[in-house]
Amino acid sequence: MKIKYTTKNQRISIEIENDSIKDAFKHLAEFQEVFDQEACGLCESDNLQMIVRTVDSNDYYEIRCKDCTAKLAFGQHKIGGSLFPKRKKQDGSYDSKGKGWHKWNGNSA
Ligand SMILES: [Zn+2]
Repeated sequence: MKIKYTTKNQRISIEIENDSIKDAFKHLAEFQEVFDQEACGLCESDNLQMIVRTVDSNDYYEIRCKDCTAKLAFGQHKIGGSLFPKRKKQDGSYDSKGKGWHKWNGNSA
């Protein structure tokens, strides 16, 4: 069973081959969580760029807003290699304002 999907902003289209409905659900869930980011959580710009930074042989996956330089960082599931957006603040509470989008302080930006 093949599924075609296009992100809400029309920029990325994929075709996924699936064994079952559950398989398709998982594939789409993984894809949407990473690629279906419509806009920056801080300035609402859709001028977004995917970035992978490698530091000490660890890869860091993030989406950067090219207008206000805010970033949305992704965590990595230990099994399966999928990614999830980090929506929580450093104190562990849900970031309801920026939905995980934030600006780096210091020199890492
Ligand atoms: Zn922004």
